[in-house]
Amino acid sequence: MAGTRALLMLENFIDGKFLPCASYIDSYDPSTGEVYCRVPDSGKEEVDAAVAAARAAFPGWAARGPQERSRALQRLADLLEEALEELARAESRDQGKTITLARTMDIPRAVQNFRFFASSILHHTSECTQMDHAGCLHYTVRAPVGIAGLISPWNLPLYLLTWKIAPAIAAGNTVIAKPSELTSVTAWMMCKLLGKAGVPPGVVNIVFGTGPRVGEALVSHPEVPLISFTGSQPTAERIMQLSAPHCKKLSLELGGKNPAIIFEDANLEECVPTTVRSSFANQGEICLSTSRIFVQKSIYSEFLKKFVEATRMWKVGIPSDPSASMGALISKAHLEKVRRYVKIARTEGARILCGEGVDQLSLPPGNQGGYFMLPTVITDIKDDSCCMKEEIFGPVTCVVPFDTEEEVIKRANSVKYGLAATVWSSSVGRVHRVAKKLQSGLVWTNCWLIRELNLPFGGMKSSGLGREGAKDSYDFFTEIKTITIKH
Ligand code: NAD
Repeated sequence: MAGTRALLMLENFIDGKFLPCASYIDSYDPSTGEVYCRVPDSGKEEVDAAVAAARAAFPGWAARGPQERSRALQRLADLLEEALEELARAESRDQGKTITLARTMDIPRAVQNFRFFASSILHHTSECTQMDHAGCLHYTVRAPVGIAGLISPWNLPLYLLTWKIAPAIAAGNTVIAKPSELTSVTAWMMCKLLGKAGVPPGVVNIVFGTGPRVGEALVSHPEVPLISFTGSQPTAERIMQLSAPHCKKLSLELGGKNPAIIFEDANLEECVPTTVRSSFANQGEICLSTSRIFVQKSIYSEFLKKFVEATRMWKVGIPSDPSASMGALISKAHLEKVRRYVKIARTEGARILCGEGVDQLSLPPGNQGGYFMLPTVITDIKDDSCCMKEEIFGPVTCVVPFDTEEEVIKRANSVKYGLAATVWSSSVGRVHRVAKKLQSGLVWTNCWLIRELNLPFGGMKSSGLGREGAKDSYDFFTEIKTITIKH
């Protein structure tokens, strides 16, 4: 429970108003392990109120043209940008990530999400066929679906929430968003800017709280016909069950067990630092993080030596330290889970080359209770170990050798996930060939995490259902109708 210092108290944002809640949950600063904020523990009652507000706002918002909606999104982007520093500090404190990352990635991307969809909404056209079927003209129109339920995780809080809110409202829907109960602060801060941006009351409602309470109330609500969810595969399973009786439209962005495949003709000067970053950026808490590194045998020892050296330079520090590459993990429970995987690897006979249990972590006295761990490299591990199959979602990566192209594709594809892969080679033919055969929604070659927001984002197999991006998000957040006119 809380100490004597004043805690930050969040409130739900419903119908353009901040409303207190009957009960609250504690939210921890991951870099100290102390409670610093209280988040509404909302449930069905708050969801019902948000649905009433979203229902009332829908006809007016949907009736506005895309240009008018676009202007509100642009203004919101500008306001978020003006508050960038304040939002970055809040995101870093709430999530544990470095302030540098929040300042250079999370908040700028939230701004970009609104700017991007403010622009892309102006450029969709519908289809029309001139095929003369019995003297008929056929064409399509799209319309917003209604009230969108948006549920997001804790790893990239404002970045991922706005990646859903922006296309949903740009397309004319009203929304009820539920951020992760572990990281709610920046969503709450954004609510203060909505009215100023010209987003009418009831268009964006945010209800805070836990998945089982407010999340399930939202997913089960019969007046919420579509759910866009980013989070874990077990939660997605539950959401699918709850949505099934209502036949809801679902977009599911889930976990990954992402391979990096490094061929002997890779440029190691670029590959090593990028693979360190792809494994450990944001404490390895990115769905696109690399967690299995396959290295061709002829360069295996050289790569491993350079990779471990570079990992040891990846500094863990308090989030405000400008020289830190990595901050604290999200929670005590998550830190323990990640450490457990390293322990399992050790008992299975794998070697821990650096990080957890090998090197010493030094922290200032005020941060001893924070959820920090060192970036950890595991090797001599079998493909069927849980560390090579399950999503760890922390700063842990496994490095293993391979012989042939055919073999590595098979091994890379041998997990239930299929979100993102990276391929390192200087052979153009090979990168095309391998990219085509990988079971992965995204393949980066000779780079990582370079995003083109126009193109589809999402995973195959257990990594998700549907895609997000300019056209994909527009398709998801609208219903299409085919109209036939006999003339
Ligand atoms: P999570 O599934 O535990 O929670 C995600 C969100 O769902 C939270 O807001 C949570 O409160 C809510 N939730 C939990 N139980 C619910 C329920 N029964 N009904 C409705 N909502 C519920 O995931 P997490 O731990 O917050 O996030 C980590 C996971 O997210 C990882 O698996 C990661 O790979 C995935 N992720 C995927 C992407 C992507 O784009 N594919 C991006 C980021 C994170």
